[in-house]
Amino acid sequence: MKELIFASHNKGKIAEIKQILSPFNIKVISSDDIDLPDVEETGTTFEENAVLKALSIAKLKNVPCLADDSGLCVNALDGRPGVYSARYAPNRDFDKAMDMLLKEIEDTKSSDRSAYFACVLVLGYPDGTYKSFEGRVDGVIIKQKQGTSGFGFDPVFAPLGYDKTFAQLGAEVKNKISHRGRALEKFTEYLNTI
Ligand code: IMP
Repeated sequence: MKELIFASHNKGKIAEIKQILSPFNIKVISSDDIDLPDVEETGTTFEENAVLKALSIAKLKNVPCLADDSGLCVNALDGRPGVYSARYAPNRDFDKAMDMLLKEIEDTKSSDRSAYFACVLVLGYPDGTYKSFEGRVDGVIIKQKQGTSGFGFDPVFAPLGYDKTFAQLGAEVKNKISHRGRALEKFTEYLNTI
């Protein structure tokens, strides 16, 4: 595979996918690069939404297409915001979204700050078939935002085994251990078999 469409307008995800796939000689073309439409996420699971995005763009462009659906699942909030993580932010303002999330967790009075990021990557083909790859990283939600790199909820999430958030650890460390990095590792293993 020499070229791959990545069905996303999320600049953070696009940068990570391009960086992680750069050693594999695959040119990643994002929805932003060629002005593809946004696909509405009407599913109730990460996989359903990733399949929707991958297949609708694969059929539209008649080439294989990769899509990612991901989110932050907080145990004290019964797994929310989960599949609705992107929509948790008012007007996509993640600074505000993190403040809301920290307050929601405080309000539960729970001492449980455990959480995980989940990612399902789907490689969809124009004939409607697809292959899924899952990744997950466990960690904790810290009490105050820390760090400036990454995107979304990175400043409040510290992966297990680290005392820094993804936003402090930076792209190189994050991509090695993140939900997206792990799902992409499975994806590249699959590419070696086809
Ligand atoms: P969606 O997959 O387009 O529905 O959006 C996923 C949302 O989950 C993003 O907008 C972020 O809020 C959150 N998210 C997913 N992956 C990450 C990550 O690696 N860091 C921080 N936030 C993330």
